[in-house]
Amino acid sequence: MNELTRKQCRIITMTRTRMIPVKANHKGSHSNQECRWCSKTDVQETQEHVISKCQAINTQNEEKINYPEIFQDENTTRLKKTADILKTIYTKITESNQD
Ligand SMILES: [Zn+2]
Repeated sequence: MNELTRKQCRIITMTRTRMIPVKANHKGSHSNQECRWCSKTDVQETQEHVISKCQAINTQNEEKINYPEIFQDENTTRLKKTADILKTIYTKITESNQD
């Protein structure tokens, strides 16, 4: 984590501590838990889904995040890349939360 920028470090820490503002992390404030980006029902809007599985929110990311890698410190290059993708996803979530 030492070689990451402060912003990269912050988004990794937020994800590790489940502070990403998806529905599953704020159960009280949403009437349903379905992913707002997927048109399918029954898909829960969890952190893991939005970050590594959701096709709809990840359209612009050329590479998908391998979710377990967020929790590993061994490969700094990968972690930096992961942090940058996480930032774009995080921005989309916060923008959507303001609507
Ligand atoms: Zn989805």
